[in-house]
This record gives sequence, C-alpha cells and structure tokens, in this order.
Amino acid sequence: MQDPKKPVVVILGAGYAGLLACSRILRAPGPVRVIVVSANPYFEQRIRLHETLAGQTTARLKLAPVLARRGAEFRHDRVLRLDPARQEVELTGGEVLAYDWLVHALGSQPACTIPGSREHAVQLDSRDRMQAMHARVSALADRKGRVIVLGGGLTAQEVSSELAERFPGLSVMMVSGREPGADLSPKARDALLTALDELGVLRQQGRITAIEPGQVRLAEGAALPFDLCIDCSGMRASPLAADSGLAVDEHGRVAVDDCLCLPGFKNVFVAGDTARVEIAGEPLRMACATAMPLGACAGMNVAALLAGRHPQAFDFGYFARLVSLGRRRGVTQFVDRADSPDGAVVSGFVAARYKEWICRMTFSIVKWELLTGLPLYFWPGSGGRYQEQVE
Ligand SMILES: Cc1cc2nc3c(=O)[nH]c(=O)nc-3n(C[C@H](O)[C@H](O)[C@H](O)COP(=O)(O)OP(=O)(O)OC[C@H]3O[C@@H](n4cnc5c(N)ncnc54)[C@H](O)[C@@H]3O)c2cc1C
Repeated sequence: MQDPKKPVVVILGAGYAGLLACSRILRAPGPVRVIVVSANPYFEQRIRLHETLAGQTTARLKLAPVLARRGAEFRHDRVLRLDPARQEVELTGGEVLAYDWLVHALGSQPACTIPGSREHAVQLDSRDRMQAMHARVSALADRKGRVIVLGGGLTAQEVSSELAERFPGLSVMMVSGREPGADLSPKARDALLTALDELGVLRQQGRITAIEPGQVRLAEGAALPFDLCIDCSGMRASPLAADSGLAVDEHGRVAVDDCLCLPGFKNVFVAGDTARVEIAGEPLRMACATAMPLGACAGMNVAALLAGRHPQAFDFGYFARLVSLGRRRGVTQFVDRADSPDGAVVSGFVAARYKEWICRMTFSIVKWELLTGLPLYFWPGSGGRYQEQVE
C-alpha cells in the first residue's frame, strides 16, 4: 500500500533527459514516490540508430529492474494527455496518474514535414525498426541499389557515411537545401566534405518539394530516383504538449523559465528536446548534449524543492560538435560557449574514436547514475567552468 503522504513525482520519458532527471530526484533526502512512464521498456542509444541500421549491435538497458533497485516505479505505456491544471497524466492503457511534481521529457521525433515522407520514406525512429530495415538495406546493397538521404545536418551526414562505409555496393546520395557543413568553420567543412568524397557519398543541393513513390521531387523540377529514401530533414518535439493545449514554438517545444519550470505551473518541469531554452539569445539545439544537462538540472530542481530549497537557474555552455563519418572517420569542431565554430578542428580516425568514446560515455553515465545513485554527470557552464553539483 502506498503512503498517501509521500509526494508523487511523475517523469514522462526515459531518454537521456528523463532518466538523468529521475536519478537526481531519487537523491532527494525525504520520502518520495517516483514513477517513470515510457512507451519503450528500454533505455536505447538513439544517437546510434544509424549504426543499428548499418547492422551494428548497440547496448540497451531494461528499465523496470534498474528503476526498481532505486525504489522507482516504471510504467511501460504511452502518454495520451497531460492536464497541468488537474495535475494529472492519462496513459493509453487507461491509467490516470495524479502527481505533485512532473518532469516532461518526451523528447522528439522525425518531423516528417516533406509531403510524402510518412508514406514513401523511412525515418530513424526506433531501434526495432532500424534492425528490421537492416535486412532491406543489405539486400539493396547486393543489387547496387540507390539510397537517398534527405537533409544535410549531422544526422544525415552520419547515416550517409555509415551506410556508404558499411555497404560499398550502395549508391548513397545526400539531398539538402544547403551544403553539408555550412555551419562549420572552413577547415571543419573541408574535412567533412573530403571524408564524404572518400566514402563516395554523392551530394545534391536543391529544395525538396515532395517524396513520391520511388523518387524525390525538387523545386527545380528534377526527379531523383531511389530504391530507399531516408528522411533526416528535421526533428520535432513530442506532440503531447501541443495536444494538451500548451503553447509551443515552431518545433513543438515548450518555453520554460530559467529553472526549466513551465510558466504558471511551478510543479511542472520540462527537459530535453521538448524544452525551449535560450542561451545567448538562441534556442538550444535539440541534442543529447543538451538533453543530458537539462534533465539533470530539472531533476536537481525537483529534488531541491522537495527538500524545501530553492531551484537553481540552468547554466550551460557548448563545447564541441562531433560527427562520426562511418567507423574510421569523423570531425570534431570545437566551439565557444555560445556554439560558434571558432575553435580547433580534429578530423580522421582520432575524431572517430573521440565520438565513439562520447557515445559510450553518454550511455554509461546514464546507466551508472541510475545504478549507483551517484551524481556522475557534469557539464560545462556558460563561464567555461564545469557545472558544480549543487545538491
Ligand atoms: C541517428 C541520430 C543520431 C544523433 N546523434 C546525435 C549526436 O551525435 N549528438 C547529439 O547531441 N544528439 C544526437 N542526436 C539527437 C539526440 O538523440 C536527441 O536530441 C536526444 O535523444 C534527446 O533526448 P531526450 O531525452 O530529450 O529525448 P529522447 O531521447 O527522444 O527520449 C524520449 C523518451 O520519451 C519516450 N516517449 C516519447 N513519446 C512518448 C509517449 N507519448 N508516451 C510515452 N513515452 C514516450 C521515448 O520512448 C523515450 O523514452 C541524434 C539523433 C538521431 C536520431
């Protein structure tokens, strides 16, 4: 029987943000009942979905037993509705969870804004789907098929390179409005384009107007034929906030105050890709690199409030942008705290190994924070110093 006096914290989402929030909340000194809700029973490495598509095995963590070890509950269910006024969350299975505190960390999903994307393209949206798709890509490579990857950003660069390296028989083409790497320094851009050339990744610039059966249509009238089209043209925050009547920005994100709290609802925190947080006047990128500090900060703030202390303002500074281009190549562009690419550049095998280490670290930190209860994760603040763990 549950203690009715225990405050109830519900955490929506078990990605990088939701799980770090959970781990920090469980460090609160007093009694607390924590319930994590996720449509996925595992913590999976979303940042490795392109590797799964290429046939690599990636680690994952079954959540229910790990959370149970720390005294938290897990609901394997989909969130249907959020009602901040009634302090309730409704799940697809019919359960209604009443909460005292809430962390909304449902992340993002492929935006699918290009007409025909859902019908005729594949999205990098789940490990299971990528595993199933791997056989199709393999068969395509055997008959020298054509893959078109839409988008020129980091995800499109990583998918294209991974497939080109793993399946030399495939013809891989990136199609984007801007040249890949346009937001990098000239040196980093050169390194990126050289690596794409070495891997045989073709590039086509143009405004994509539609994805049709077997072809991508450009504004200029050209039609690019494909056997498989992968849409990496953008991400959009979980639709739950908008569907629940909350105000959202053009990417579906909820604006929060300095402490990551939903304005007007002092007991609701938002973290990860669902939160719109500005640093130096610019919204944070939707990224694992921002979801982790946002989740940890939201969790620490809930823990502070549970202990009768004040929440702290979120502080963050960028450090680097890292892209892996297959398993043997990569580019690391060091940036200033506001994400301007004015730092050093590392490329080639060293950058590939560095990105691999970062990917391992993101998974291990979340796993070991959950298992040990120790605040192992820290991140750079806007002043360049690493964030102190204020608990
Ligand atoms: C191929 C790929 C490569 C990437 N590489 C990088 C990279 O190199 N560096 C980087 O910084 N970022 C990278 N990203 C982006 C990064 O993965 C995301 O920004 C990050 O996962 C966001 O973390 P999050 O915790 O906010 O949300 P998510 O990781 O999206 O987690 C959301 C959680 O909510 C659950 N959920 C969602 N909707 C519901 C619902 N309605 N009901 C119940 N549960 C739900 C999900 O199951 C999941 O547990 C990459 C993304 C992709 C797709």
